[in-house]
Amino acid sequence: MTEQTEKKLDDIKKEADRKNCPVQKSLYFIDEFLSGPMCGKCFPCSFGSYEARVRLRRLAGGTGSEEDVAAVKRIASNMSEASMCKKGKDTAKYILEHIDSKEFAEHVSGVCARNECMEYFKYVIVPDKCDMCGICLDVCKDNAITGEKKKSYLSGYRPFEIAQKRCSKCGKCVTVCPTGAIVVVNVKERETAGV
Ligand code: SF4
Ligand code: SF4
Ligand code: SF4
Repeated sequence: MTEQTEKKLDDIKKEADRKNCPVQKSLYFIDEFLSGPMCGKCFPCSFGSYEARVRLRRLAGGTGSEEDVAAVKRIASNMSEASMCKKGKDTAKYILEHIDSKEFAEHVSGVCARNECMEYFKYVIVPDKCDMCGICLDVCKDNAITGEKKKSYLSGYRPFEIAQKRCSKCGKCVTVCPTGAIVVVNVKERETAGV
């Protein structure tokens, strides 16, 4: 293991640690691991790591199951034991440090508590809180917000709304809204509530 590779692993860990969601942390780590050279010397890594990535992507994308969580755990355990290099062992260790968390398991029931897995949440404008200032409209680079700024001589304003298909969930509008009218909601809870 060269000093350069060691540093790369440290950098990957630092980047992964910047994320809050344990699924996103694990996915970032394994994505980075698989983007580097793979020698193929040991079985759990050369086959299992790809499968682990597929299953982590499912969990991050809102289609994961308990079986996916169990499979990722099994693969990481095998890699931790059998990998012949530090790179493989560190990747497995990192995943194992996060996989038993409550927040990881919640993904199976449609919750990403940290709002980092995009399929699990969306931004909406609460009409009662919106004073129609139009600030959000100006900052949205995706043109996802529609609405009409309030003007004293106009009546029948077009309310401010977010077109979900266009929204990239950058969160910029939330930071500029002066009334706190833009909120993050869990998609599954809203579907269940029929709103
Ligand atoms: S864990 Fe290391 S030694 Fe084993 S296949 Fe992966 S990169 Fe090669
Ligand atoms: S989250 Fe980003 S893309 Fe979505 S409406 Fe707000 S500013 Fe636009
Ligand atoms: S910034 Fe907030 S208050 Fe202003 S229009 Fe947008 S949602 Fe409404």
